[in-house]
Amino acid sequence: MSDCAVVGVNWGDEGKGRMVDLLTENYDIVIRYQGGGNAGHTVINEYGKFALHLLPSGIFRPGKVNILGNGVALDAENLWNEIETVVSQGVAITPDNLKISSRASLLLPWHRQLDELEENRLSDKKYGSTKQGIAPFYSDKYQKKTVLAGELFYPEKLKAHLADLLEWKNLILTGVYGAKPYTMEKLLAWVDDYCGKIKPFICDTHQYLKAAKAQGKSILYEAQLGSLRDLDMGIYPYTTSSNTLAAYAPVGSGLPSARPEEVIGVVKAYATCVGAGPFVSEWFGEEADALREAGGEYGAKTGRPRRVGALDIVATRYGAEMQGATAIALTKLDILSYMEKIPVCVKYLVDGQETDDFPFPAALDDAKPVTEYLDGWQCDISGARAWEDLPENARRYVEYIEKAVGCPVKYISVGAERESIVIRDI
Ligand code: GDP
Repeated sequence: MSDCAVVGVNWGDEGKGRMVDLLTENYDIVIRYQGGGNAGHTVINEYGKFALHLLPSGIFRPGKVNILGNGVALDAENLWNEIETVVSQGVAITPDNLKISSRASLLLPWHRQLDELEENRLSDKKYGSTKQGIAPFYSDKYQKKTVLAGELFYPEKLKAHLADLLEWKNLILTGVYGAKPYTMEKLLAWVDDYCGKIKPFICDTHQYLKAAKAQGKSILYEAQLGSLRDLDMGIYPYTTSSNTLAAYAPVGSGLPSARPEEVIGVVKAYATCVGAGPFVSEWFGEEADALREAGGEYGAKTGRPRRVGALDIVATRYGAEMQGATAIALTKLDILSYMEKIPVCVKYLVDGQETDDFPFPAALDDAKPVTEYLDGWQCDISGARAWEDLPENARRYVEYIEKAVGCPVKYISVGAERESIVIRDI
């Protein structure tokens, strides 16, 4: 089996968790390679319904090894709480099926606090952070001002390292934000408690992966968010602070020489976006409310109502190209069943000119959608399991998308459950 990355093509929340949960059956190892506890991958299976924030979505499959790679923001507290929740629902999590890279950097207690302080300072100019400390964490990682998980095995060195970081961070907490300084006692208590709990899972995952590849094991890389939130290629500054692209998967996983041959780009059948930033095909008013309700579009992590709109071909084509998608998984097609006519944003109007190209972020605010309407199918498609089961207009919608985006649609999801899927033989 060749290796595969499952990635988001748009703004996130495309249904990656659901696709990873389905596809893990075919792979030996599942790796989360970027991002942190700000993700909210929803998975529904025989154990119940879960919103996974840090755990790889392969955790439910017995015999699969799940890895948190060096590219993730390792939030020990969130991770431990999540492990406890999932274990309490009957899923076994041990160092055999969960491994944490010793090279993953630790999200420190003050990162969440700094996120909150900065969003408050920005007031109405805020970026829409989930306040999980992700931006302060990655800034510190790239400034080399956090610690690696593996340092937990060197307690004396760790203590000295943390004392240096504390001294520096308190200058920012007190000087810039006028907040209370953090104390070494609190920091060490956090190390003893949450870090102690996740310590048994920490190991040299690069060595593990090298040996696994030599034995012919296959890997599924699981991304968080989507192309348009990628730090380098997304709608900066309304991006996340890590790289969401498949190209980063080998680095963030700890196997930089790997090249996933398959890249499944997950696209929702309509558009949604959480947080601030330009969103060209956005709807407002009753039309938006109806779609939001039909799709249950509320953030898995924050419960915030998601912004909704028409499928955006310009953004999706760009997103699929950025991911190097070899196939598309189209999710939530069932949600569109109530519409008589389905609006699709096919081009943008920028400075009076129609364009197929995704503009530079600063130009996006002035882009207007050019909309076309496709015929709806207006019947329940949630029972479809084969291409032929879908009504003709639903098949037309799918074919329209693959032609416009230039990438085959291999998977069509018609429900949240694992089995609610049509797989095309392409
Ligand atoms: P992710 O972060 O990309 O995994 O996406 P989320 O979990 O935030 O959002 C996807 C939501 O849609 C979850 O509530 C899923 O259970 C649900 N979902 C995924 N695929 C389908 C589908 O085909 N139909 C329906 N009705 N719900 C789906």
